[in-house]
Amino acid sequence: MTPPVIVGAGPAGVRAAQALAAHGLRPVLVDEAPRAGGQVYRRPPAHFRRSPAELYGSEAARAVALHAAADALADRIDHRPDSLVWNAQGGVLDVLQRGRIERLPYDGLIVATGATDRVLPVPGWTLPGVTTLGGAQVALKFQGCAIGERVVLMGSGPLLYLVAYQYAKAGARVVAVLDSARLADQVAALPMMLTRPAILMKGAWYVAWLRAHGVPIVRDARPLRIVGGERVEGVEFEQGDRLQAIECDAVGIGHALRSETQLPDLLGCRFAFDELQRAHLPLRDAAGRSSVPGLYLAGDGAGILGADAAEWAGERAALALLEDRGLPVDAARARALEQRLAGLRPFRRGLERAFPFPIDWAARADDELIVCRCEHLSAGQLRRTVRETGADDINRLKALSRVGMGRCQGRMCGVAATEILAQACGRPVGEVGRLRGQAPIKPVPLSALSSAPSAVPEPEAAA
Ligand SMILES: Cc1cc2nc3c(=O)[nH]c(=O)nc-3n(C[C@H](O)[C@H](O)[C@H](O)COP(=O)(O)OP(=O)(O)OC[C@H]3O[C@@H](n4cnc5c(N)ncnc54)[C@H](O)[C@@H]3O)c2cc1C
Repeated sequence: MTPPVIVGAGPAGVRAAQALAAHGLRPVLVDEAPRAGGQVYRRPPAHFRRSPAELYGSEAARAVALHAAADALADRIDHRPDSLVWNAQGGVLDVLQRGRIERLPYDGLIVATGATDRVLPVPGWTLPGVTTLGGAQVALKFQGCAIGERVVLMGSGPLLYLVAYQYAKAGARVVAVLDSARLADQVAALPMMLTRPAILMKGAWYVAWLRAHGVPIVRDARPLRIVGGERVEGVEFEQGDRLQAIECDAVGIGHALRSETQLPDLLGCRFAFDELQRAHLPLRDAAGRSSVPGLYLAGDGAGILGADAAEWAGERAALALLEDRGLPVDAARARALEQRLAGLRPFRRGLERAFPFPIDWAARADDELIVCRCEHLSAGQLRRTVRETGADDINRLKALSRVGMGRCQGRMCGVAATEILAQACGRPVGEVGRLRGQAPIKPVPLSALSSAPSAVPEPEAAA
């Protein structure tokens, strides 16, 4: 019998697998990472010896619980680590596992692929020594090292303070935290954020700890450029009218997160623009059912709601899959999970208020700024293409300029390119479309593709 498949072994995927196994199914759980845990509870290699408390801080108990749940499933599910799903089409996934491609059919699919950093480039962001905030955190969690000896972290969002705290606590030197949000934004968000006082207190604790340990926090900071030669040497920024400079040898940047939505896209899910998250997201009902029958969405991959919500959404999506197969489920539990998820919405709005997207970013971006580093395209080249061709859709701009056609497939540059396009053609960002997913959604070696001719994707159609 064809099994249900879950893509992503983070909090959402593990709880989904647990719920399916508890109801007698044996799902396949696929993840490109070597161990279950996802981003927030990413596990280091087995021989690393940092304790959960050192690795996950106040989240240690949750991390240990999720890892234990994943380990306990070992003989009740088919867990496939180190396995990248790089293509999906009606009922079949193409999976790259240790250099070989396998076709994985499914009967019911839960996509729980999480998120990545939302990057807004600044001049100099392509210098060696610059990484995303998430990348900086992965270095710490997975490799036990910092990205440099004097690190500036900048952008905005909760991850900014969390990474700064984790770095400083682990003994790395954080020379500054540059937050583009203003203190007034964070104060204005308080009533909404008080709906989840424990999370709010955690955020306040990180800030207080950083201040108490002498880490400078600059709010309302506008990065002007990252300077350097062969590697990062410093950051120039302005706060109000004051120009300032800080020396450093590494920079982590990020403006919150963006959902990984390529698989639902390849599988034909309907999307809609979400004003709050300033992104096109796949539509789903309260239980996680997408617009495609048999396809369920859970966790940050369907909209950023955080780790707790991911666990609830993963379980709820699994219950939906079971319900749709006519299997009996605990309806009260399903309702309770939906209520918990709905209860997070005010806090989510609060986060956007506290760390607002810098909507003037595109207007302030110089023509020389590199937006798409894979194809080496600047903001000016994108604007010129828009001017000369009248392009007002991001896929049209992609076809004309190659933006988003490189290795990252728009996962890194897509947000920025869309913002530049909207600014250049004078349309709201929600009206210029979204970069369509194309296989392979992440790089796949040609040697692996040639070993599996049936899996080679159709050539990309000209937009
Ligand atoms: C870099 C980063 C760091 C973060 N750190 C924190 C933190 O410290 N604390 C916190 O509260 N929140 C953090 N967040 C947010 C946090 O990740 C989420 O709230 C939570 O982990 C979401 O759980 P999830 O199960 O939806 O997704 P994730 O935990 O992201 O899990 C998704 C899984 O899907 C896998 N995957 C994705 N695409 C594919 C594919 N095509 N094929 C195979 N596998 C795939 C990934 O390897 C990953 O293991 C972080 C987010 C990011 C992007």
